[in-house]
Amino acid sequence: MGKEPLWEALQKVYDPELGKSIVELKMVRGLEEEEGKVKVTLALTTLACPLRERLANDVKEALEQVEGVREVEVILTEMSPEEKKALLDSLTPEEGVAKRFNSIGKVIAVMSGKGGVGKSLVAALLATHLRRQNYRVGIMDADITGPSIPKILGVKDKPIPAPMGIIPPTSSTGIKVMSIGLFLLREEDAVIWRGPLISRAIQQFWGDVFWGELDYMVVDLPPGTADASLTVMQALPLNGVILVTSPQELVRVIVKKAMQMAKHLQVPIIGVVENMSYAICPDTGMRWELFGPSKGEEIAKELKVPLLAKIPIDPEIAKLCDEGRVEEYHLEEFEVIAARIQELVPEVTPRFFVSIGDFSEGD
Ligand code: ADP
Repeated sequence: MGKEPLWEALQKVYDPELGKSIVELKMVRGLEEEEGKVKVTLALTTLACPLRERLANDVKEALEQVEGVREVEVILTEMSPEEKKALLDSLTPEEGVAKRFNSIGKVIAVMSGKGGVGKSLVAALLATHLRRQNYRVGIMDADITGPSIPKILGVKDKPIPAPMGIIPPTSSTGIKVMSIGLFLLREEDAVIWRGPLISRAIQQFWGDVFWGELDYMVVDLPPGTADASLTVMQALPLNGVILVTSPQELVRVIVKKAMQMAKHLQVPIIGVVENMSYAICPDTGMRWELFGPSKGEEIAKELKVPLLAKIPIDPEIAKLCDEGRVEEYHLEEFEVIAARIQELVPEVTPRFFVSIGDFSEGD
């Protein structure tokens, strides 16, 4: 059989992100056929592309439709930096440009059952400790209505719009930061956005921000396990979630919510972090469980995940958060998490939802 019908079939396969035919985008690098067995090689802008399985499947399906084809093998390779650049130059900058050139390893979201338990603190500490172990780290503040990440990391620079996408500012240790807070004129300005706008902002944070190459992206979710955080989670290809609790929370309620969420989204819970677990008495050095015995263990046990850390109530934390110097805080448990993160974060194929629905207000 000739190759012409095969090329015709490939012509009809569109790159879901670039919206153009893969033939036109010069992504097809090899096409062989022998007795109905087809072998096709595709060069992607990045092998970390979250849609690569989908693209490979589309190619396979298109070729299998061609008469005489019995078997299709799709081989995925990556474009060289020069080829990527040539592709970029051939496209007029438009929405979603950055996404094609970003290569983001694992995406870890930090969630809490309710507001004010220290979710942003945990997100910032996780990013900080990963960065200390030399990982390339970004933090996306998806807590749109109460963005506190820039403040606690002391990031004041505005993001820069560039042809490659919006360039995020970096913290003092080199964590890339994106937050709606960076676009507000005054820190205390409230963001009163309805659901669709929040969804749009998150899509832009993912697709229009030039993150470059990251090993880890930490996402600070909106508080609560209800609609707002679910909507954000659906918009991002998450690998896992860390659940932040405090000793005041009702175990039964938080466990139920977390389980429902994980089931609904099929995103694994990596572990639990209990904040404000205890305080150290400055005179005696004794641990004092202000809110009663820790519930973290119980929650972790119910969820069948590890209790990753217990964070004390520490005036030093409050001070460093206020002064934008949270990166100076050391917590041994977080060092352990950062060292073990590879094994903690499961190898899931993250789902990616391009369109996001509306959600009702409030948690
Ligand atoms: P959330 O994101 O859950 O709303 P944050 O992480 O923003 O909560 O925490 C709010 C503030 O509470 C922080 O800026 C910090 O000042 C204070 N805080 C949180 N956890 C602690 C702690 N363990 N010790 C002292 N202060 C804390």
